Amino acid sequence: MPAVVERAMDSGTIATWMALSDAAFRAERDHLVQLDAAVGDGDHGTTMARGFDAVVRALAAEAGAPPGRLLTLAGQTLVSTMGGASGPLWGTALRRAGRALGDGPGFEAPQLVRALEAALAGVVELGGARLGDKTMVDALAPAVAALQGAVERGEPLAAALRAATAAAEEGVRATVPMQARKGRASYLGERSVGHQDAGATSAALVIRALEQAVDR
Ligand code: ADP
Ligand code: MG
Repeated sequence: MPAVVERAMDSGTIATWMALSDAAFRAERDHLVQLDAAVGDGDHGTTMARGFDAVVRALAAEAGAPPGRLLTLAGQTLVSTMGGASGPLWGTALRRAGRALGDGPGFEAPQLVRALEAALAGVVELGGARLGDKTMVDALAPAVAALQGAVERGEPLAAALRAATAAAEEGVRATVPMQARKGRASYLGERSVGHQDAGATSAALVIRALEQAVDR
């Protein structure tokens, strides 16, 4: 038995997670645009900010819906408001996470782990990227693994999410020397080496926002 009694998470946790993600994308929009401009088309910061703005508006109209439903709606909203590679990938991630949470009014750490595992599986299934391909998977996969391991060891969720954020951010740094094998950056071949991946950077922002949302 874990020694710590965890506060159950609920719809408010999801709404806060999405609002903090939105705030992070507004704050980091120009940085993400620069990262994407170096090896892609420079739209990543604007599309992520636009998508999460729309998510916050969509969720505000659904007060009282269960947390899984909110995540599913968030994913649908991203698909319909964002273009590019990231819209369908993040849309799939959040829809899969929402489906994994189901219809219950609350959820606990093991369900959150399963939701994030489902999100990652959705991204991999749709985009076919593997670790080392210089994509969002290089931040998301280590984060999910760190979270899963820490929760399994019975660590408090706050600590498990801190470990997930640290793993995501380390994953972001690891993209710098990689050569892109998926997405637009892969068209550059060896010239993609030496640049931090924009999508991985975004994934770390989303994981950090989750850590902060659960901490509240
Ligand atoms: P686009 O390349 O269509 O302009 P974005 O700029 O929004 O799309 O997103 C680019 C990011 O998407 C990349 O930095 C990378 O992390 C991620 N990405 C691209 N293709 C894939 C893929 N097949 N699987 C996972 N992530 C991918
Ligand atoms: Mg782009």
